[in-house]
Amino acid sequence: MKELKSFLGGRWVAGGGTPHTLLNPATEEPLARTTAGAADLGAALAFARDVGGPALRALSFAERGALLKSIAGALQSSRDELLELAIANGGNTRSDAKFDVDGAIGTLLEYSEIGNALGSRKFLLDGEGIQLGRSARFHGQHIAVPRHGVAVHVNAFNFPAWGFAEKAAVALLAGVPVLSKPATSSAMVAHRIMEILAEKKILPEGALSLLVGSPGELVSLLGAQDVLAFTGSGDTGARIRSARNVIEFSVRINVEADSLNAAVLGADVEPRSDMYELFLKDVVRDMTQKAGQKCTAIRRILVPKDVIDEVKSDLIELLATVKVGNPADEDVRMGPLATASQLADACEGVTRLGGRLAFGSTERNSEKGFFMSPVLVESPGDAVHEHEVFGPVASLLPYDENPASLVVRGNGGLVSSIYSEDQAFIEQLVMDIAPHHGRVFLGHPKIELSPGPGTVLPQLVHGGPGRAGGGEELGGPRGLAFYMQRVALEGSRPVIQKLIG
Ligand code: NAP
Repeated sequence: MKELKSFLGGRWVAGGGTPHTLLNPATEEPLARTTAGAADLGAALAFARDVGGPALRALSFAERGALLKSIAGALQSSRDELLELAIANGGNTRSDAKFDVDGAIGTLLEYSEIGNALGSRKFLLDGEGIQLGRSARFHGQHIAVPRHGVAVHVNAFNFPAWGFAEKAAVALLAGVPVLSKPATSSAMVAHRIMEILAEKKILPEGALSLLVGSPGELVSLLGAQDVLAFTGSGDTGARIRSARNVIEFSVRINVEADSLNAAVLGADVEPRSDMYELFLKDVVRDMTQKAGQKCTAIRRILVPKDVIDEVKSDLIELLATVKVGNPADEDVRMGPLATASQLADACEGVTRLGGRLAFGSTERNSEKGFFMSPVLVESPGDAVHEHEVFGPVASLLPYDENPASLVVRGNGGLVSSIYSEDQAFIEQLVMDIAPHHGRVFLGHPKIELSPGPGTVLPQLVHGGPGRAGGGEELGGPRGLAFYMQRVALEGSRPVIQKLIG
């Protein structure tokens, strides 16, 4: 069985914490084991700060962008191997695996281009210079410089490739070294990526480290120049935020957590119209892609009450065509959940939602593997606005006139979507729900190859207020701000102008 070590301080070392066996969630076959033994995380962070940081800061944005392009190229040349690992260790269908791996490559390439466009600078100018006094000599200019710490990235189990890349691309482009910690259960893909990058020596020493297995005391070792970007459950996010050193040293934290994403069908949409079919397609894709283990997946389906029966029967018809099984079989459209505990949580979550099951069940119907069927809940209780079931589960809710009051009961989300051609309805709903979201998706059948609301694009921000963690990632060059310190230069205009070039 493969032993997964961590890559810390520029070498492979036995990881910290209790050993953990990684399984194939479709067969429960053991695939790999994280290693036990104490890793010196303090020394690993110091190595990244002292060796990786200066090496990255010596490069221009264009040069850092070129590194990202090389990482993307390395992943592309090992794409088939990474897809196979995602199928085996993540329970992904081939299409799910491509979503993760190709999403990683695409995000790296997007940030490589941003680096290229930023050119030979090593820091960013923020806005125009400002005359501060009566004389033009007294001048101010905001700039943003890379922080001198480590970017610690803690990822959830569902996107081991994209989760690694979407965070690392932005930090490395900003000039900040990365220590990435994948979720243990699905760490094989991220581990293989690290092996590939270390073998090819693509990055300067210290620029990228990987911690496999338990995070141990990682968070408590962070200081004032470090940043921590976390993706995972709201509970873990809250624990990290409340760590003593995080509060004492104002460690900059970004949390991407739970979300009760809604999809709203407008009252103007006729059943069987192209808009209606798009709505059904996006709902079913979000329920079944990655077995619903997507933070952006539609959890609440809001439809006008006079069409709810029709929508229900159409969704049932589509869900009945989804073949659930071992994703190594090509005709399987939905694989298992990632772990036994994710399956138990999802089944318990369905019970917690209340209501009736219009489709699917939580009965176990296979001896091996963490499988469940897609589940469509009707007439759920209030828990539908409070509890995220992280699996192939969505609830159908009727609305009378204005769906906004239901949407915002999710208390802050990553994305909600609107399917309508009634401009007045769209405008009102966008204004009502936008402050509660990081993204609002306006579905339209004329958008060719629309990825649906569940796909996070590197050009747009990802994150959301409230329950979603209050964070923001990506968004093109906007994402760099998290890793950089904005500072105001105040003084003599010629001196400042020479300094900023
Ligand atoms: P989780 O249990 O909170 O774990 C997330 C990550 O945090 C894992 O890498 C985990 O490591 C690590 N971790 C746990 N305790 C930690 C600690 N004390 N210090 C530092 N790291 C710690 O979440 P999950 O079950 O993997 O993920 C599912 C949840 O993530 C869902 O609620 C979903 O909504 C959310 N999610 C959000 C987004 C988003 O972008 N907003 C994306 C994906 C998922 P181990 O695996 O080693 O325990």
